[in-house]
Amino acid sequence: MSSYALEFSSNPHGLEINKSYAAIDKFDWKRRQMVKYQLRNRGIKDKRVLAAISKVPRHEFVDSSLRDLAYSDSPLPIGHNQTISQPYIVAYMTEAGEISPSDKVLEIGTGSGYQAAVLGEIAKEVYSIEIIPQLAIKARRTLSRLGYQNIQVKTGDGYQGWVENAPYDAIIVTAAPESIPKPLIEQLAINGKMVIPVGKSNQEIFVLTKTQNGTLSEKTIPVRFVPMRRKFLQ
Ligand code: SAH
Repeated sequence: MSSYALEFSSNPHGLEINKSYAAIDKFDWKRRQMVKYQLRNRGIKDKRVLAAISKVPRHEFVDSSLRDLAYSDSPLPIGHNQTISQPYIVAYMTEAGEISPSDKVLEIGTGSGYQAAVLGEIAKEVYSIEIIPQLAIKARRTLSRLGYQNIQVKTGDGYQGWVENAPYDAIIVTAAPESIPKPLIEQLAINGKMVIPVGKSNQEIFVLTKTQNGTLSEKTIPVRFVPMRRKFLQ
């Protein structure tokens, strides 16, 4: 922060420029702290995941009144009774998806678009479905303003998946159904991973691997996601 202040102190418009650079620095610094204390120190190791989260401006995905809280260790409201997940959970799920640069990924529950952006930093293509039209529109706007060209968002019921682009190398689900949706298993590629919170009041993240001979699933950490809705809402 101070080096920018020095650099611009002789500029006639110095005050304004200092202000905007100070704002950029503040979020950059907060993001680094978040990656160190909330992710690395808790065991997130995948370099691609850490690099992606170090890059995505999480403060751009929340309301301007919540920007200062964007890097805190908690979920945040994004309107319509929905939340953007805690940074650690986004990192955990992305790491569990074992995503690589050639992958095609499906996300269910676009919400703010933040998780989609993190996926978009790592994968080749990202398809994301959101059931609340206003959230889908807003997320699409945020993602295009930030320059993500490999992410497509559609309004719809994610329970059904997005069959036109299947199969997916990974499916990340960020709303909790009571059991794993069959259409999503069908749309997962062989050797693909699905990361999905399952349950009603007690939910756990399941990591499912599809093989030639069926699926293997592992129950991992307890979580609390919004329920996956089943009806299309206008
Ligand atoms: N991944 C989001 C946060 C997810 S919150 C982010 O990074 O901000 C869960 C989202 O899932 C909510 O926006 C909710 O509207 C959506 N959702 C719930 N049921 C759904 C369904 N059946 N299909 C698609 N989206 C759904």
